[in-house]
Amino acid sequence: MSDKNNSICPLCGAKMVIRYKKSDGHPFWGCSKYFSKDRCKGIRAVEVKKVEDKQ
Ligand SMILES: [Zn+2]
Repeated sequence: MSDKNNSICPLCGAKMVIRYKKSDGHPFWGCSKYFSKDRCKGIRAVEVKKVEDKQ
């Protein structure tokens, strides 16, 4: 299996959703089960694509 799909929780395999830190508004992948009864705190960093400079 490849590890390409980083929108899958590394802890429980559930789908992940983009969330934003309250502190600085930085985006990250958070487990969709975070708000469920048995809270899962699986997170992943969002790979930020480099924006090419104007030429
Ligand atoms: Zn999870």
